[in-house]
Parts: sequence; structure tokens; C-alpha cells
Amino acid sequence: MELSSLPMIELHLHLDGAIPPETMWDLANAQGLPLPAATLDDFRRWLARTSDCADVNTYLARFELPLQLMQTEESIVRVTRDVLSVLARQGHIYDEVRFAPQLHKRAGLTQRQAVEAVLEGRRQALAEHPDYDAGILLCAMCIGPETVNMEENLETVRLAKDFLGQGVVGTDLAGAEGIVPLRNFRPVFDLARELHVPATCHAGDSQGPDTIRDALSFGVTRIGHGHHIFDDPSLWDEAISRGVTLEICPTSNIQCHTQPSYRAHPAKKLLDAGLRLCINTDNMTLAAVNLPDEYRHCTQDMGFTSDDLKKTLVYAAEAAFLPEEKKKALIARVKNAEL
Ligand SMILES: [Zn+2]
Repeated sequence: MELSSLPMIELHLHLDGAIPPETMWDLANAQGLPLPAATLDDFRRWLARTSDCADVNTYLARFELPLQLMQTEESIVRVTRDVLSVLARQGHIYDEVRFAPQLHKRAGLTQRQAVEAVLEGRRQALAEHPDYDAGILLCAMCIGPETVNMEENLETVRLAKDFLGQGVVGTDLAGAEGIVPLRNFRPVFDLARELHVPATCHAGDSQGPDTIRDALSFGVTRIGHGHHIFDDPSLWDEAISRGVTLEICPTSNIQCHTQPSYRAHPAKKLLDAGLRLCINTDNMTLAAVNLPDEYRHCTQDMGFTSDDLKKTLVYAAEAAFLPEEKKKALIARVKNAEL
């Protein structure tokens, strides 16, 4: 089976974790920012070496360099265009790429300007790759107790509403898990529901099933990671009956030590139990992995068959924050693919 010939869909990918090394290299040189390597090849090796972290919060600290590089409209446009172009060239047919507008304000941009820059980069990439499509998710952030940035988080959700139908397709809550109970962020999701903004939520990765219970109570239709639902089967029925899709990112889970190994990862058992899930990289560059790599891990180490992978792609298409006719077109492309 040639995995790279599958029409790939990725729903859980962070823009700042997916910047091609050569784009980071160019931007750092243009901005006079020192890098921990003398040559581009050394820099690639440095990025690959940093792909194994002690825990999720060490992992999150590694976003500092990409974030430093993405504080102007020009750099955000360039990053978005380059990331989406790489995905299109890899054979992806649709992706949802997420970023947190509030993390791009250090040089004076507003959240709105950061969103507009990402949408301009998206426009340029889609013009170059007409068979490819991508939606943008705007992330609210957990950076401490929920009171620290609740206003900024609510602004992010309002911006998602303003730009729905113009390239933005939904919202998310990202950042550190476990600082405060996830349920403290309920106002973010209450506003999303009130404004009819589709929402996903990081949960059940470094923290246990209780965070998944919280996320389900927010009314989200997708959960970022969510693999620790395996630890509490009493939640499975609700997730199944509501058609909730888990955005599984195997390599990220291994690197953050939220699962001990690919072989021990419960994704295949969850799929067989009837839960919907899809396969993602989380952070293509910082995890030094692409979707065909993840599919290989699925088939070689995690017990997936090729039909299982196709099923996860259908689930991804069905869970995409897209109008029904666009979903149907994606599903048809997946189902018609030869394996
Ligand atoms: Zn993530």
C-alpha cells in the first residue's frame, strides 16, 4: 500500500509548529534573529533533536522561536503560504490549520490583523494549489488561570465569528493542560455556541478523562487528542452517540510522554469500540513528522489496517467544519481512492 497516495486530510495542525525549516531560516536571517545553528542543515538537525520532550509543557516552550518569527504581517503571510503549500504538495486535499491570534501581538499587531495576515497567506497558497483547500481555526489559549486572558479569548471567538465563511472555520482551546480545571474555560465555549462558531477543544492528553468530560459538557463536536478517554469507558457511549471525533496525534503523544509507545497507544482499540477518530501530526516541523509517517506508525506499530486508515479519513471529512456539500465532495474523494 502506498500511503502517500491517500488523499490526506489533517484536522489538528498548529501553524507555528509546522513552519518549514527553510522558511524559519529565511525569516530569522531577515529579522536578524540568532539561531542555534550555523547552517540550514545544522538547523534541520537541531529541530529534529528537539522533537523529544520531557512533557507537554516542555514541548510548548519550543514554540518560542516560531512565535518570535511570526510577529509581523509579512512573516505571518509567508509562514501560512509556505505551510499550506507544503501540505498541498504532500498530497493533502483538505486541512484545518490552527493558530492563536493573541500570541502574535508582541510587535503591535492586533488579533484581527494577525487573522487577516493568515487569511492572506491562505489565499496565496490556495491560488497556487487549486485542488487543495484549507480552513483556519482560531485558538483561544490556556496560559494560566482562566482570568489572565479571558477577554482576549472571548475576542478570539468573536473574530472567528466575524471571519466565518472567509477562511476561518472554527475555534479551539489550546495551551497548557492542568493549570486550572478545564471547566473554568466554559465561557469561551458558551460564546462559541451562542455565535454558532464550530469548536474543538484540547483535552485528555496530559490530563485524564475528567478533562474529556468537561470538553463534552462544552458541546464540542471534536476533541484535540482525547486519547485518555480510553481510561474511562463510561464516556465512550456519550462520545459515540454524539458523533464526537477524536483528533489523534500519535507522534506528539509519544514525544510528550502522554502515551508510552506507539504499540501501547489505544487509538486502534478506540476505533474498534466505535469511536470516531482521525490521524494528525499536531506539529509537522517541531515533531519532525508528516502525515504519511503517522500513517506508517498506524499500520506498522498500532494495528491499523489500510481500511482503518481510510475510515479515519472519512471520519475526518465528516468532522471537518465545512458545509455539507463540501464534506460530501471530500468523502467521495477518499472513498474513490485506490489503496
Ligand atoms: Zn494541538
